[in-house]
Amino acid sequence: MATKKKTTTLKKRVKGKEDVVIISRIPKEKEWKLLYFKKGMDIEKESALYKGLCTNCEKRETCTIPQPDSGIWRCKDYIQEKPIVAKREKVGLYKNVEQQFNKAANMMNLDPNIRKILSMTTNEIMVNFPVKMDDGRIEMFKGYRVQHNNALGPFKGGLRFHPSVDLDEIRSLATWMTWKSAIVNIPFGGAKGGIQIRPSSYSISELERITRRFTFELGCNIGPDYDIPAPDVNTNAQIMAWMLDTYLSTVPPNERQRCISVVTGKPIDLGGSAGRDKATGQGVVFTIEEWAKDNNFNLKGATYFVQGFGNVGSWAARLMKLHGSKLIAVEDVSGAIFNPKGLDPEDLLNFTRLNDSVIVGYQKGEPIDHETFMKTGADIFIPSALESQITATTAPLLDVKLVAEGANGPTDPDGDMILQSKGVDVIPDILCNAGGVIVSYFEWLQNKRSESWDLDEVDIKLYKKIVEAYGRVRDTAKEYNNTDWRTAAYIVALSRLEKVYKERGIFP
Ligand code: NAD
Repeated sequence: MATKKKTTTLKKRVKGKEDVVIISRIPKEKEWKLLYFKKGMDIEKESALYKGLCTNCEKRETCTIPQPDSGIWRCKDYIQEKPIVAKREKVGLYKNVEQQFNKAANMMNLDPNIRKILSMTTNEIMVNFPVKMDDGRIEMFKGYRVQHNNALGPFKGGLRFHPSVDLDEIRSLATWMTWKSAIVNIPFGGAKGGIQIRPSSYSISELERITRRFTFELGCNIGPDYDIPAPDVNTNAQIMAWMLDTYLSTVPPNERQRCISVVTGKPIDLGGSAGRDKATGQGVVFTIEEWAKDNNFNLKGATYFVQGFGNVGSWAARLMKLHGSKLIAVEDVSGAIFNPKGLDPEDLLNFTRLNDSVIVGYQKGEPIDHETFMKTGADIFIPSALESQITATTAPLLDVKLVAEGANGPTDPDGDMILQSKGVDVIPDILCNAGGVIVSYFEWLQNKRSESWDLDEVDIKLYKKIVEAYGRVRDTAKEYNNTDWRTAAYIVALSRLEKVYKERGIFP
């Protein structure tokens, strides 16, 4: 229906004076198409004629329409690689982790031997694997699983589907997971995985085969007592269900029930936990509540804006609304919108559900560019998208009292320094977004005990865990001369790990 409408608009324009380029997406097929029409073209005939391979990546027949002037045929991926919203500084994410780690380790005088151990990952698994596409072609994919540390318990961490996934990114995210589990005092280590793909370029059945084959390739590198994946960017309960089913198919029948805790964030019917879906956003809001209490700040009527409107961002936005706070701007991969009178997160979410999960086209907010979005004057900013969003370039733009980091690694060390000099408080990612791993732990426990807790029970336990962790970080910041909270959070994590290593000793 939407496509038809676009074509009608197009017709009018092609009859006019300009050439037209339209990027259209057919929701069911999840395919992007670039349609290029020169003035005077007969759309019905010509659009069907231009089919071929992309000059840029040489793939897929959906690389449809050529650009006649240049003679170059370019595909959907070529278009999307030019970000229309936030850019991400990808180079050397792990350098940021090292900088954060060294600062904390120096401040607390971390034992040099423990320092050596924790500054390296345990295992880095990279697999290239083939998957059959719907049209019969075989495509090769690259997947990663990095296991940073399991001194406190099984490796634990999300699985991400994104074209920018690489070893450096997954290594960084795995390391942050170790600190996160240690801060909130749960018996898990840190891991992360990912596949380097743009999921919107694949059909549902292709995504299922990609997920299953990747799980198969990981083999016994994951397991309910060894390494437990969960959802992250562009993955969800459905992906976890496919992972679970594939993993269970590889173990003997009498082991299967014992192994359902191999993934968390599963659908509830398959052993998932009540409250896991909202857990990360809920944890973000619990930490904001604590900050508000500490600072005598009234959340009622406070303004906030959110980057990323997926699992974490949309839940955080909805739960903030329950406090009477006002959402005034949102950005996602499709663009940013602003409304000083307030945006209703429920209404926006309903819109995205019918709009390919993106906010572009939402009429109750004015479209703004990325820089204007970052300049939004508000009390609280909740980055909930990707890494390295608050940098030397963007931190000076922020006009807020608090940054509550829903995303992993949204602030780089330069960004941190600028926020500190501006007096902006930061609830660091490894504390702020730990609600996800806490409820993953609850899910794992419920699976092991064959129990099913109700939402109230999960929420109360989550609240207790994350508020205790918040208190530990606050007290540590004070103890270390009012250091910044990221460093304090690291010190909490490193102290716990140092103690465990000292008690256990190093084999042999
Ligand atoms: P998601 O895939 O559900 O949502 C990601 C959102 O980010 C989408 O709205 C997407 O449009 C937006 N986005 C992508 N690129 C963007 C860009 N360049 N500019 C602006 N927005 C962009 O993912 P999620 O699970 O909500 O994860 C978001 C962040 O939270 C990630 O950093 C993830 O690692 C972190 N996190 C997630 C969980 C969890 O339980 N899902 C737990 C802890 C931390």
